[in-house]
Amino acid sequence: MVADILAAPRADGPDPEPPVGGRPRRRPAAWVAMYHSVSNCRDDPYNVTVTPARLDRQLAWMAGRGLRGVSVHELLAARARGAAGGLVGLTFDDGYTDFVTTALPVLRRRGFTATVFVLPGRLGGENAWEPTGPRKPLLDVDGIRRAVAAGMEVASHGLTHLDLTRATDQVLHTEVDDSRHRLAEITGGDVEGFCYPYGRLDQRAADAVRRAGYHYACAIDPGPAGSGDFALPRIHLGEADTSVRLELKRRLARFYGRALEAV
Ligand SMILES: [Zn+2]
Repeated sequence: MVADILAAPRADGPDPEPPVGGRPRRRPAAWVAMYHSVSNCRDDPYNVTVTPARLDRQLAWMAGRGLRGVSVHELLAARARGAAGGLVGLTFDDGYTDFVTTALPVLRRRGFTATVFVLPGRLGGENAWEPTGPRKPLLDVDGIRRAVAAGMEVASHGLTHLDLTRATDQVLHTEVDDSRHRLAEITGGDVEGFCYPYGRLDQRAADAVRRAGYHYACAIDPGPAGSGDFALPRIHLGEADTSVRLELKRRLARFYGRALEAV
């Protein structure tokens, strides 16, 4: 199950960026979208699958508003230059093979990039951590290298998809540190990003990620106070998110602390 900020709507507040008559609108706040699988598979008990047609329409909605989808690496680099306005971080969790076969062509048609969070402890395996639902294949070494070659950011989702808040110190260390080293060997480059499985983190997990040398970590909800870039909040986008819902989610992002500036 993944969080959806439209699942429990709060009272409406003022529009965070009202249109100003005749003058150009202020660039909208940067935010990070969370996807998982991109596939035409309709069996989706955890609401983690979008069809390629829906993804294409969502990216078209972004492009039509002057928004550009980028990897988290690019988003944070732009933010450091004060130039993150109008950017949307695009993230794909779990490293399904459909990221390369199905999402990648859609992204490339738009000239967008993304971050894919993979599981180097399950290379070529499947999503066995899900108790039910369809089994989906995960990227292997070749698939990961194809994603890198296509200009995508590959980052760590841990080794095997464990809830790190319940892991022993030793397991936490292995999941966080070893996944980074293994991925660096596969990609031949630095691994800057981490993504907490299930979006679950606590201070101990965030500290372990920081100590391991990552530059940032993605969560779902805003993290504990002071976690900063080690608990970047994200907005779940799913098959139900038509343009009306996308607009609403974008506007609600600030109220829910999910706009990047709120970190
Ligand atoms: Zn996951």
